Parts: sequence; structure tokens; C-alpha cells
Amino acid sequence: MKVTVLVGGVGGARFLSGVRELLGPTPFPVAAGDSASSNGNEITAVVNVGDDAWMHGVRICPDLDTCMYTLGGGIDPERSWGRADESWHAKEELAAYGADPDWFGLGDRDLATHLIRTQMLDAGYRLADVTAALCRRWQPGVRLLPATDERHETHVVVAKPDGSEGERVAIHFQEWWVKHRAQIPTFGFAQVGSDDTAPAPGVAEAIADADIILLAPSNPVVSIGAIVSVPGIRSALRTTSAPVVGISPVIDNRPLRGMADECLSVIGVESSAEAIAAHYGARSANGILDGWLIAEGDTAHVDGIAIGTAPLLMTDPQTTAVMVRDACALVGVDIPQAAHPDATGDAR
Ligand code: GDP
Ligand code: CA
Repeated sequence: MKVTVLVGGVGGARFLSGVRELLGPTPFPVAAGDSASSNGNEITAVVNVGDDAWMHGVRICPDLDTCMYTLGGGIDPERSWGRADESWHAKEELAAYGADPDWFGLGDRDLATHLIRTQMLDAGYRLADVTAALCRRWQPGVRLLPATDERHETHVVVAKPDGSEGERVAIHFQEWWVKHRAQIPTFGFAQVGSDDTAPAPGVAEAIADADIILLAPSNPVVSIGAIVSVPGIRSALRTTSAPVVGISPVIDNRPLRGMADECLSVIGVESSAEAIAAHYGARSANGILDGWLIAEGDTAHVDGIAIGTAPLLMTDPQTTAVMVRDACALVGVDIPQAAHPDATGDAR
């Protein structure tokens, strides 16, 4: 069974924990001589890089790191991002020098990851290779691929602070999200980066060769939307023979955590399960979805998209595994109760 999942940060990482619980771990990176997987299952995550940024001379990849730390057991459980047992001395020292940006949470342990990444990128390695190298330590049990190796950063068009009326500027998504908490007049999103952005090696194949593609309940605009905007990924989703199923990130018209509703309102999409499904669109009508799993109690009708309902709270990997199985069943892909020997099975 080959499952390919499009993911952002926190929502994506939790969802991947459920996929891994259901199917068993996929060794990543694969050491020379080892087989790909003990049970024949293969989980590939295509991870958003729209949030990536340079800060204080280091390259930061928030969603890749959230997935890597969560799956590898190094995440801070309260914040759901960054490292457990973190300290902030470097950040304090930078602030004492008046160094900008002063609003970004750069932990000391986390900084080591960024230093290694930056050194490897400077030496000419691609982001996909760097990610695999970092995962040698974390053993996430999921193949983590950046959506692209190129720069493909989400920028946000906002009213120019102190500018005359009508003046607009584009700021990095991180500045909009972390510094301004999305609370400034906002007009749209744009990807900024390389002119010849292409899917990272393995991404198009992981979509074409999968048995099923899942869109995690990640932010539809700046996580899933940013991945799908990488030239080549949307067409790969449209042409794969695998069914594509998404999981709603909103329950009862509210995102679970984070500010997905702020992003949706900027692009004129309501924060409802139905509006998000219509925004993704049916594959039979130029969109990317065959199935859409929504929370019990919610409703959605979109021509060409099979709708299923299930409990959608990702409280722990076992509960999330049930959600993953429900998503697969929606398009007739049946995963046995215990698809891998260590699976703890149905938590309901
Ligand atoms: P980010 O990159 O850290 O913002 O994380 P993602 O884009 O991967 O996920 C953020 C989205 O996850 C938010 O829009 C939340 O609504 C959604 N989310 C978080 N927890 C849950 C959950 O338990 N169930 C569902 N269905 N969605 C969730
Ligand atoms: Ca993110």
C-alpha cells in the first residue's frame, strides 16, 4: 500500500502520526542495503515549504521541522512547534544586539537544525537531501519530501504601514502570521522565489504511483494551497490514477487551532467544510478532490466529490488512524484493521 499525503505543519504532522500508526513506519532515509519497508507499505509526505525563510543568516523550514520533530518525538508538546526542553539564549542575545527580526521564536536546540541545514545548502545540497540527512537522526517513519527544492515562499500583500492610502507591500508570510497575527488589512497571497520551480525529486512519482493520495487537514490556503501552486503538482494530482481524498480542517465552521479562517477570508472562501471542498474542486470538474471527509454534524454537497463523515479530532495517533482509515474507505480503498503488526487498532 502506497499512501502519499500533502501536509503543512501542526495539522499535517498530527495527521501523519495517524497514517504511520495505521500502516506502520516507512524507513526514512533508507540505509544502503536495507529494504524500503518491512510490510510493503510506503508513506510519503509532500511537505509545504511556503513558510520557509532566511532569518539571522539561517534557513528555516517550519513545516518540515514540525513534521520531523513531531514524528521523531522531539516536538514541544505544549507549543506543538519547535523542540521540547527548549531554551532561548540565542534569541535573547540577538535581541540585545537589536538584531531584526526580533519577533521570531528561534530556540537554541532548534537553531542547531537550522545551522546544519544552512551549511548543507551552502555546500550545494538540495533541500530534499538536507531533509533526508536531518531525518537520519529523527527517524520519522515517513518519507518526508519538500514540495520543491527551490525557493517558493508565501508572501502576503498588505497595506503599507504608514503608507498613503492604497499603497501596498508584500511581506513574508512569517511576518504576517507571527508578528502581525494576521491582524492587518490584507489583499492576497503570492508565491515568491525561483522562476523554474519544479516538484522536488520523487514528488511527482509519489503522486503518480500511489494507491491513494490524502490531503491532510492542513491550512487550505498557505499549506495545501502553497504545495499545489508548485508548477507540476496540480497536474500530477489531476492525472494520477489514485483517488485523492481530503480531510476537513474545520469542524462546525471553525478551524481547530491556528488562523486558517483568516487566510480563507483573504481569498474569499468561507470557513466551512463545504466551501473548502468547493474551493479544492472535484477532479471531474478541473479540481483536485474525489473524496472529502467532514466532521460528524457538518454538511457539504459538491458535485463530483464523495462526502463522508467521521470524528475529525486528532487527539492521539490511534484516533487519527481511524480517521485515516475512514478517509480511505470513502473511495473504496480498504485498509485492514491492523495493517502492521504493532498497530494498536481501532480506538473507538
Ligand atoms: P501549520 O502549518 O502549523 O499551520 O499547520 P497545518 O497547515 O498543517 O494545519 C493547520 C490546520 O490544522 C488548522 O487549520 C486546523 O484547523 C487544523 N487542525 C488542527 N488540529 C486538527 C484536528 O484535530 N482535526 C482537524 N480536522 N483539523 C485540525
Ligand atoms: Ca505552516
